Amino acid sequence: MTEAHLKLGTKPSKQNKTDKDVIDADVTALLHWYDIHGRDLPWRRRWPDLAPAYHVFLSELMLQQTVVATVIPYFARFTERWPNLSALAASPVEDVLEAWSGLGYYARARNMHKAAQILTSEYDGTFPDAAELLIKLPGIGPYTAGAIAAFAFDKPAIVIDGNIERVLSRYFGIGTELPALKADIAAIYPEMIPATRRSDFPQALMDLASQICQPKKAGCDICPLSHSCVASRWNDPTILPVKPAKTPKPVRVGKAFVLCNEDGDVAVFRRAETGLLGGTLAFPSSGWDKSSPEFDWLEGATLKAKAPITHVFTHFRADIEVFQIEWQKQTSLPEPFFWTSSTTALPSLMAKILKSALNDQGRN
Ligand code: SF4
Repeated sequence: MTEAHLKLGTKPSKQNKTDKDVIDADVTALLHWYDIHGRDLPWRRRWPDLAPAYHVFLSELMLQQTVVATVIPYFARFTERWPNLSALAASPVEDVLEAWSGLGYYARARNMHKAAQILTSEYDGTFPDAAELLIKLPGIGPYTAGAIAAFAFDKPAIVIDGNIERVLSRYFGIGTELPALKADIAAIYPEMIPATRRSDFPQALMDLASQICQPKKAGCDICPLSHSCVASRWNDPTILPVKPAKTPKPVRVGKAFVLCNEDGDVAVFRRAETGLLGGTLAFPSSGWDKSSPEFDWLEGATLKAKAPITHVFTHFRADIEVFQIEWQKQTSLPEPFFWTSSTTALPSLMAKILKSALNDQGRN
C-alpha cells in the first residue's frame, strides 16, 4: 500500500493480490455489513435511492458537535416547519434560532439560514452537486461539502469526520498525530471509494465506527474490514488515532444577575449578531465575556446568591456565580434590557443560569 499506510511498519495480509484488489474486497464486505447492520436515520436513504440534499444539509449542520439521538427530534421539527430550502430562507432568522435552541453553537443556525438564502437567490433553491461549490457556502466545511455531494448526489467526494478518521487510521495503520492525520487520510481515501454505492460508502464507515470500531474498543473479530486491517493484528488497535497531549481549557470566572419581577418575567438583552452565542438572549453578566452592556444601575440592589454554574465552551470553561434580584416591573429597565416571559429559547448557558436563579435554595 502507500507510504502513509506503512508508517507503522505493518503490511496487509493478502500479499498475493494487488492493494486495490484487497481494498475493493474489504469495501464490498463493508457494504454488505452495512446492508444488514446500517442504521436507519430520518435523513438517510440507501443507494440507489439518494437523500434530498436539503435533508443532508440540515442534518449535517445539526450533527456538528451534537449526537444523533439529540438531532433526530430537531430534524423532525425543522423539516415539518420548513419543508424545503425556500421556506427556510424566507423565515426570519430569529425563528430559526429559536427552533435551534438547545443544540448550541448558534453560529451554525445563522450560517444555515444564510446558506439557504444564498442557495435560493443564486442557485434557484437547489444545491450544487460539487463539493468545490458547496464549500463556498457559509458554515459548510470540507466534511459537510463532501457529505452533501456523496449522500445526495452519489459523487466520489472525500468525506472524513472524526469517526471515519479513526477507522481509516486503524485500517491503514497510519500513526500520524491528529490533526495532521486528516491530510494523510484524505490522500489515501480516494483509493477506497467504490465504483458504485458511493453514497452508502461513507455512511457505512460511520456506522462501523459507531458500532464496531469505537474510540476505546475495537470489535475486530466481527469487523468486515478485519481481513486486511493493519491495526487488527496488534494487541491494541485503539492506540490509533494518535492524539496530541491534552492541554487544560482556560477558565474564565464571572458573575450573572437574574432580575425577576412580580409577574415572573426576567430582564434580558439580545447579544450582538456575531460572535459567541450570537443573537441570543442573555442576562446581564460580567467577567467571563465582555459583551454584556453596562449594568451599573444595579448597584445597591439586594442580591440573593444562588448556586454557581459551570459551562464548557470549545475554547474555555466559564465558572459563573449567579445572583437573583427582585425588581419592580414599574421601574423601567434601561436600554437594551427588556422584560420577557419567554425563556424557552435561551441558549444552554443562560438556561443553566436561570435554573440556578429560580431554584429556591441559595448557595451552599
Ligand atoms: S478490524 Fe478492528 S481496528 Fe480494523 S477497522 Fe475493524 S474494528 Fe477497527
